[in-house]
Amino acid sequence: MAIALGHPEHGYYRKADPIGRAGDFITAPEISQVFGEIIGLWSAVVWRQAGAPPTVRLVELGPGRGTLMADALRAAETVPEFRVAIDLHLVETSPALRARQRETLAPHTVAWHDTTETVPPGPAIFIANEFFDALPTDQYIRTEGGWRERCVDFDEAAGKPAFSVSPAEPEAKTIPAELDDAPQNAIYEHSPIRDELAAALGRRIAADGGAALIVDYGHARPGLGETLQAVRRHRPQDVLDDVGSADLTTHVDFAALAAAVTGAGARTWGPTPQGAFLAALGAEQRAEALSARAAPTQAADLRSGVRRLIAADGMGTLFKAMAITAAGAAAPPGFETA
Ligand code: SAH
Repeated sequence: MAIALGHPEHGYYRKADPIGRAGDFITAPEISQVFGEIIGLWSAVVWRQAGAPPTVRLVELGPGRGTLMADALRAAETVPEFRVAIDLHLVETSPALRARQRETLAPHTVAWHDTTETVPPGPAIFIANEFFDALPTDQYIRTEGGWRERCVDFDEAAGKPAFSVSPAEPEAKTIPAELDDAPQNAIYEHSPIRDELAAALGRRIAADGGAALIVDYGHARPGLGETLQAVRRHRPQDVLDDVGSADLTTHVDFAALAAAVTGAGARTWGPTPQGAFLAALGAEQRAEALSARAAPTQAADLRSGVRRLIAADGMGTLFKAMAITAAGAAAPPGFETA
């Protein structure tokens, strides 16, 4: 997964811009400007809750085309003290998408990073929409002889990659004890890289203050089952076909992220369904207000875009929002009951 997505020459994210109707997949900020606007206002409130520090790093992980951040910054203009406090940082490895972000975010001053580790210290607000799902995951398969890591080999005869099973037993504690009796061929997914990133965000927020908002598709409790998928041109593709040509993701295990954050001395809120989160923060009212000033076709698009983000049969339930704050901090907006 790491090679397929990140190989310097052939990796999926190192090539052209994959996002949008003409690309391979579409994301919430590309569906409605309201998504980024709500997150901009969320950030302003969180900044105030953190004591309104004169400088705050606003850090987006995997900003795609820069659309979410452009919408967030526009909304932040309504809170001028917050707007001037913002020091903008983007964590992005794709040269193609960095170029795109530069265009979208001009004339804002932006600093780019390959990882969160180089973002300067101090209070920070981290935003990650559909970022964790793209970080590599391990898979384990239950065999007659117990759990084994699932690997990828090259099938010389077929001339293409094929799944295989590691002969070695996984290290102790890799597989949760409650999965000891899993049926044969059951699949367990676990991403140490995601957990490490969540722990790093937790450590930093516990020490320097601020918050994080993670929005992604995933499950609130860990479980069995394969969620690895490849998507190209808005359609599923076999994950081993034409490696590097499709987006690869797995569902995010929010329980695993929360455990990592708590272990690092910070706390989490949620996950709460994306629909409930956006509705609590007034997404529908914002769409109505924009529609009132828009031409009829635009107004219809604004309403249907927000509906898709909120509806249970759209992105409202599968996608979830989770926040990270310091241990004693107040509930961030949208998480008061979470
Ligand atoms: N947040 C955007 C894009 C989501 S796609 C949106 O909602 O539209 C995933 C993004 O993460 C892309 O910008 C991709 O280039 C970036 N990315 C993927 N793996 C990464 C990694 N390991 N480090 C930094 N950025 C990464």
